[in-house]
Amino acid sequence: MSDATPAVEGWFTTGPEPALIGSSCRSCGTISFPRETTFCKNPACSGEEFDDVELSRRGTVWSYTDAQYKPPAPYIPTTDPYVPFALAAVELAEGLVVLGQVADGFGVADLKVGNEVELVVETLYTDETGERTIWRWKPVTAQNGAQA
Ligand SMILES: [Zn+2]
Repeated sequence: MSDATPAVEGWFTTGPEPALIGSSCRSCGTISFPRETTFCKNPACSGEEFDDVELSRRGTVWSYTDAQYKPPAPYIPTTDPYVPFALAAVELAEGLVVLGQVADGFGVADLKVGNEVELVVETLYTDETGERTIWRWKPVTAQNGAQA
């Protein structure tokens, strides 16, 4: 069996309950994603030291779109020519909005603004050294604990 490793290092954790990795400013507590490593995003803060924090695994859909253009890094095109897919901007309890592709098998028809989604890690592509994974947003449809 080949190893599955993140396509982008240090952006998310893997395992049964994956989470995005953000940073928390040691001076003011401002949380950033992607991780901040140089200067605090808070203009009133001069903090330059940060701790890694795992962000909420669930959030609500803030906006979504069919991606008709090639997204910026860390998205890695897996098809040539580029094939559009659904992208969701998800608001987390931390106050951040995090863009991500929608989980395999879901599209814009499964998304509504304000609906809950959950972070999942799926295979982005496979090369000779194994699978490369990326986070995606999966609509939460089963509210009673039933797994589809
Ligand atoms: Zn700060």
